[in-house]
Amino acid sequence: MNDLHIITAQTIALPETAYQARHFINGVAQDSADGRKSDRISPSHGLVVSQAALGSAVETEAAIKAARAAFDDGRWSRLSGKARAAVLNKVADLIEANVEKLALIETLESGKPISQARSECGGAADLWRYAASLARTSHGDSHNTLGADILAVVLKEPIGVVSIIAPWNFPFWILSQKLPFALAAGCTCVVKPSEMTPSTTAMLADMLVEAGLPQGVCNIVLGYGNPVGALMTSHPDVDMVTFTGSTAVGKIITKTAGDTLKKVALELGGKNPQVIFPNCDLEGAADAVTFGVYFNVGQCCNSSSRIIVHEDIADAFVARVVALSRRVAFGNPLHPDTQVGAIVTPEHATKIDGYVRAAVASGAEVCIGGGPMTVPGVGTQFYQPTVVRGVTPDMAIAREEVFGPVLVVLTFRTLEEAIALTNDATYGLSAGIWCDDVHTCLEFSRRAQAGTVWTNTWMDGFPEVAFGGVKQSGQGREIGSYGFDEFLEVKSLVMRVGRTRAPWVKNA
Ligand code: NAD
Repeated sequence: MNDLHIITAQTIALPETAYQARHFINGVAQDSADGRKSDRISPSHGLVVSQAALGSAVETEAAIKAARAAFDDGRWSRLSGKARAAVLNKVADLIEANVEKLALIETLESGKPISQARSECGGAADLWRYAASLARTSHGDSHNTLGADILAVVLKEPIGVVSIIAPWNFPFWILSQKLPFALAAGCTCVVKPSEMTPSTTAMLADMLVEAGLPQGVCNIVLGYGNPVGALMTSHPDVDMVTFTGSTAVGKIITKTAGDTLKKVALELGGKNPQVIFPNCDLEGAADAVTFGVYFNVGQCCNSSSRIIVHEDIADAFVARVVALSRRVAFGNPLHPDTQVGAIVTPEHATKIDGYVRAAVASGAEVCIGGGPMTVPGVGTQFYQPTVVRGVTPDMAIAREEVFGPVLVVLTFRTLEEAIALTNDATYGLSAGIWCDDVHTCLEFSRRAQAGTVWTNTWMDGFPEVAFGGVKQSGQGREIGSYGFDEFLEVKSLVMRVGRTRAPWVKNA
C-alpha cells in the first residue's frame, strides 16, 4: 500500500460557508414550507458543504402544478425552436462562465477529483448546445404517396410534463443529459437531484432565470426519493419520468408510474466487461482498463468493473494493470493532479469492502489493494485501488455492481467463450473489445448484449451518439437524436384534399 501514488497536498481553498440550496418552484427560489433542511458532509473533507431544503409533498405538488400550467398554456411548448434554442445556448454560456463554482461544490459533495468535476460541469455546456441545435432541426414526416386526394403528415409534439430524477455520481452531467433535451422538445420539467448532491442543480436555477427561461418551465425540488421522487412518479399530472440511478429504484419507479401509464425512461446499473485479445495494443488496453475502473472512483455506471482476458496473456496483462494502479494518483480531490478521490458515504465504502471480502472468502486472490485507506489530511473515506483475480463468474463480485475502484479478472480461450461471459449478466449497459482483427471486433460487437460497444477504446462519448442500456441496465435512450425523441409524442394528421370522401351510409 505504501508504494501507491497518494496525493495529500491541496491547492484549492475550502469555501468559508456552506452553500444554501433551495427549491426552485414557479420561478422562485424557496425553502421548504416546514423549514426542514439536510446537511451534506463532504466525503473527503468532513465539512458541511451544503445545507439543502428538504422537500415534502407540499413543494412537490406545487412544482408539478407549475410545470403543468406552464406546459398547458404554451408559454414554452409553443415557442419556435429558434426561441427555445436561444435560451439553451445562453444557459450553455452561463455554465461555462460558472465552471469553477460548480466544480468546487460538486467535488466537495461527491468526493470526486476537481479535474473530473471541471470537465463534467464544463463539458455539460456542449450537451446544452447540442440540444439547442435539435430544437431548431426537429421535424416530423410527410406522406405524399397516399393518393391524389390524401395528404398525411406526422407531427412531433412535446410529451408534456417530465419528471427528471438524478443520482449522485455525475449530478451535473446527468442532469444535462436530460433537462436540455426535454426543454428543446418543448416539455416542462420537475427535477429532483440526489439528496447527496443537490447543489449544482440548485445553482443551475439562477442560470435558467438569467437565460430567460419562462417561469414554471423548469422546477427543482430537493429531497429524498420518498416522498419527493415517489410523488414525481405517481402524480397524474406528470406525463413522463426519466430516471438515472440504481436498478432497484428503477424497478420501483416503473411499477409506480404504471398506475397512470406514464412513459418511463431508465438509465440504470452495469457490470461492463472489456475483452482483451492477445493481438491488440496491450499497453493501450491496460491503460483503458485502469481508466475504466478508477474513473470517478469506480462509482460510474460505465465502470469497466470486469475484464475478460485471454488466458495466454492473463498473467502479464494483470501485472501491467497492477503496475498502472500503483501510478494512478489517489487522494485529496482538491489537487489538480488527483485522479481518484473519496467514496461517497461510509456505508458505501463498507459495501465495497464486503464484496472484496466475500470474494476472498470464496477463494479469490487480491493482486493489489483490497481494503479501505486513509489519506493524510483528508480522512478515512477512501478505498485502495483493487484488482481481484481467481474469480468465478458466479461470485457476487463478478455479477453485481460493486460501484468502487475494484476490478475483477475473468479469463477466456475462444471468442465464443468471451461472448458467453460478456452476456452472462443481468445488466447490458456497455462492453468493449481490444483486438487488432476487425472481423473479431465486428463479430463481438454484433453479439454483445449491450447498449454501447467500444472497440479498442473505452468510454468515449459524444452528445450526438445515443446512450442507454439493454436488459436490466435500462430502457429508452439518452442524448443524440434518439434521446431527444424520447421527449416527443407522435401525432398523425390525415387530410383529405377536396370533398372526395365517399359516403359510408348509402344513399336511400
Ligand atoms: P439511487 O437509485 O439510489 O437514487 C437515484 C435517485 O432516485 C436519487 O435522486 C434518489 O433520491 C431517487 N429515489 C430513491 N428512491 C426513489 C423512489 N422510490 N422513487 C423515486 N425516486 C427515488 O441511485 P444512486 O445511488 O444515486 O446512483 C447510483 C446508481 O445509478 C448506480 O446503480 C449507477 O449504475 C446508476 N447510474 C446509471 C447511469 C446510466 O446512465 N445508466 C448513470 C449514472 C448512474
